[in-house]
Amino acid sequence: MLEEYRKICYSCGRCGYCVAQYAKWRGTYLVCPVREKLGWLSYSARGRLAIARGILEGKLTYTKPLVEHIFSCLMCNMCTQACPVGLDKEGVFKAMRADIIANGLELPEGISMLATSLRREHNILGEPENARGNWAEGLEIPDKADVVYFVGCVASYKFPEIARATAKILRGGGVNFTILGAKEWCCGNRMFLSGHLAMGRGMAEHNMRRLKETGAKKIVTSCAECYRCLKQEYPLLFGENFDFEVFHISELLVRLLEDKRISFTNEIYGKITYHDPCQLGRYSKVFEQPREVLDAIPGVDRVEMLRNRENSWCCGAGAGIVKSFKPDLALDVADDVIKEAIDAGAEVIVTACPTCKWNIGDSIVRGTVNADVQLMDLSELAAKSLP
Ligand code: SF4
Ligand code: SF4
Repeated sequence: MLEEYRKICYSCGRCGYCVAQYAKWRGTYLVCPVREKLGWLSYSARGRLAIARGILEGKLTYTKPLVEHIFSCLMCNMCTQACPVGLDKEGVFKAMRADIIANGLELPEGISMLATSLRREHNILGEPENARGNWAEGLEIPDKADVVYFVGCVASYKFPEIARATAKILRGGGVNFTILGAKEWCCGNRMFLSGHLAMGRGMAEHNMRRLKETGAKKIVTSCAECYRCLKQEYPLLFGENFDFEVFHISELLVRLLEDKRISFTNEIYGKITYHDPCQLGRYSKVFEQPREVLDAIPGVDRVEMLRNRENSWCCGAGAGIVKSFKPDLALDVADDVIKEAIDAGAEVIVTACPTCKWNIGDSIVRGTVNADVQLMDLSELAAKSLP
């Protein structure tokens, strides 16, 4: 697979814009969170492309330390954003991962456990497959509807409060929706990003069959990962057969507000900052809708972190892949988000991805940064402000 990306590997001008940059309004700033935390230039995109060239030229092989190195990228897309020639570096990094897996090489333990959970229970947490819809008990959600709420693994099992808040928003807006319940499998995002391409395809094919059975034409997600995967990977796989419109809940909330189908009535006072999830922001360009939702909530005083929108710092989870095998690295990166939120004067960090909530939340609990700050998902905050 890496061979397919040869041109990109050799198009790098080694300018170093993916390592550090300068802007008048903020001075010198750093680009790659992993390079900053682990120190070596080989962790930056420039270094990773040099490794890729070494492999293509037969000067390097996939040794165990090199495999760890390759999987330590957060896939945060910051380096592509920063690259003056816009090289698709994530494509190169995914290709190296796919080659490692295709060659049956030993994977870091956390990554192989992730794959085992998905193989056995079709969710990233290894929780029982048939408990996936438990969060919806008592809600009496119909089997067929115009819209499918694709819940995702993390909201289904770890943060059911996000799923319930999303259901409250949909009900409040009069949206006729269904869920797949125990028939929903992981969207496959982590498999696509970690190079388990066949497994990702299997997940997508299953979900596609189940989505079609509902008769819906629209899908809403409350997860940035599911959103990117359904919106970008599924159309690549299924072409015109994937005839669904995909919305993130923040996009739907803006529509519901504009159409006056919902209005926020409960005041929520406090300084709130919004953390852009990489998969929703840089990958999908959904920057403004979550902010519009926050601005519509009475009492909210929204403040911005220094690095925001396309420049926002990754939460550190790396689509859950880095979190699964280098948890300290993941939390060290999240510490920077917390520090920046505090510097902005925020009392609450709001994000729009359950995995960001998971990792930033773990970092708050670890307490390396002495932070008196709360953390919520956008759908939870929005649901709180609804009557
Ligand atoms: S910014 Fe782009 S061209 Fe410059 S070193 Fe990084 S990958 Fe290469
Ligand atoms: S995707 Fe993010 S973590 Fe990976 S090399 Fe680029 S900036 Fe660094």
